[in-house]
Amino acid sequence: MIDSSDNLYTRFDRLISDPARLFAALPDGTQYSYGELRAGSARIANALLDLGVQPGDRIVVQVEKSVAAIFLYLACLRVAAVYVPLNSAYTLAELEYFIADAEPRVLVCTGARLAELLPLAQRLKLGHVVTLEAAPPGGSLRERAAVQPDTCFDVPCDADAPAAILYTSGTTGRSKGAVLSHGNLAANAFALKACWRFTSQDVLLHSLPLFHIHGLFVALNVTLAANASLILLPGFDATAVYAGLERATVYMGVPTHYVRMLRDPRFDRPATARMRLFVSGSAPLLPETHRAWAEQTGHTILERYGMTETGIITSNPYGGERVAGTVGQPLPGIKLRLVDTETGAAVPRGELGMIEMAGPNVFAGYWRRPDKTRAEFRSDGYFVTGDIGRIDERGYLQIVGRGRDLIITGGYNVYPREVESEIDALQGVGESAVIGLPHADFGEGVTAVVVAAEPPLQPPLTEEVVLTQLKARLAGYKCPKRVLFLTELPRNAMGKVQKSLLRERFQHLYAARGTS
Ligand code: AMP
Repeated sequence: MIDSSDNLYTRFDRLISDPARLFAALPDGTQYSYGELRAGSARIANALLDLGVQPGDRIVVQVEKSVAAIFLYLACLRVAAVYVPLNSAYTLAELEYFIADAEPRVLVCTGARLAELLPLAQRLKLGHVVTLEAAPPGGSLRERAAVQPDTCFDVPCDADAPAAILYTSGTTGRSKGAVLSHGNLAANAFALKACWRFTSQDVLLHSLPLFHIHGLFVALNVTLAANASLILLPGFDATAVYAGLERATVYMGVPTHYVRMLRDPRFDRPATARMRLFVSGSAPLLPETHRAWAEQTGHTILERYGMTETGIITSNPYGGERVAGTVGQPLPGIKLRLVDTETGAAVPRGELGMIEMAGPNVFAGYWRRPDKTRAEFRSDGYFVTGDIGRIDERGYLQIVGRGRDLIITGGYNVYPREVESEIDALQGVGESAVIGLPHADFGEGVTAVVVAAEPPLQPPLTEEVVLTQLKARLAGYKCPKRVLFLTELPRNAMGKVQKSLLRERFQHLYAARGTS
């Protein structure tokens, strides 16, 4: 018999000490208790069952951030379906790829998208397309849920059962779905609860998106594992974060958030006096930002490192020294090593190497991509992160760069290949290279270097024309901030474009223009 305790929802539910406890508060004062979380997620779980959802079925979700979206995530866990959240900025063309790949039983979208998704769903032979908001009769999951009982049977599953697929990518530029199990998510949530000393007294100020591991599996799951509370903001907004500091105890953000808050003198010692912890991750936090935050607020940011496939891997200590420019040490239960990228041999302490790791938080593999999964694991089971790092004399990990050419802009990952293929498809383009350049506000600014096709268009292709066309095809954060034109791209002897030379040549591009 399968032990039902391995269903992640069941584990969270068992910790609910009092159904009247606050689960989430919205900026407008609306409050949701843990009892409402239990009832609301049960209603949606029953509505999903009513739509024919079976364990293992994918539920693809592209919605705005809301408490209902959290209940939907928990409902998927309760019926042992696989939650597949997608970035709310994805365009229709981008969505088609994910929907075709995930083959969901149910697609949950916004009311604004419903009309354009219905024909697509028909073409892809999808089961159901529903919204979380009000919609034409039968079209709203919330309305279907409202008439359902407020209790449900939580489907027992073992720790290996898939709980979610989060899309990520590699050098191929096309997203791969990382399949995370109930056991993976539980291992990370409970390890972080202990490391960061979360208790039911904590109130987490939540300004991150709910479609990425940081906001969903770090911030939300740790809150649930601690039976703590959230202040749920729709997104990052300095004024809303400032207002929330009055009642919160913990903030989790990306470096861009801290840079923005530092520009606002309201974020000072009195304003942050109630807070016990500020966490940063998803992209490198500049040591200057770390120091400036300590000076302005008296708080030492705790920086941690993780990725979609693994959850959090290392963290600076809660109790010990938090060192700027480092991401700390592996969480308990995680094994980490640095190896030579060519030979695979362990590198001595202090030297650069590829970060490889193993632990109960490491995903099972990429959705329907056994070849890609094999390529990312060593024969002894270690996962190859793709990040290059160094272990310092204290035993703390420093991330020095990404082996792949991933760009992280404002906390979002942009895969150059994907942007390049959109640019290359434009009329008048010969070839392109997309790189990340230092940008004070975004960390890295997505930048396209374009070589015009021969013979050139008349009138010649311009930056403005390229950007206008890309805006219709790519989510805003993926669109280049600048498009530069060269007569040829630098290549090595093997014919491979040398992006490092481009990055070096244009490194001051955004510094020269300010932070726009
Ligand atoms: P994602 O899968 O979107 O979470 O992105 C994972 C990648 O973000 C990692 O492989 C790292 O390259 C990067 N990353 C995450 N946290 C940090 C950090 N604290 N410092 C530097 N890079 C980070």
